[in-house]
Amino acid sequence: NIDDCADLTGLSEEEVAKRKSLGYEEKSPLEGDNCNNCQLYLPPTAKRKCGGCQLFKGPVNADAYCTYWAPKV
Ligand code: SF4
Repeated sequence: NIDDCADLTGLSEEEVAKRKSLGYEEKSPLEGDNCNNCQLYLPPTAKRKCGGCQLFKGPVNADAYCTYWAPKV
């Protein structure tokens, strides 16, 4: 469920604004480019069910996208 990792409760306004300014979208508009294959993605862990991003705080959907997407090297 895409909403499972879309809850921004507890994040500061600055952090919410930062992800907006990077053009974060819960569902990538580009076929094949998404957080899951971005080099800045932080995969879920045993303690954290959602992924994350090195550029901002809070949950990140594997299927999401932002304008800083960069392919894994
Ligand atoms: Fe996703 Fe953008 Fe972070 Fe890459 S930089 S993991 S595309 S939010």
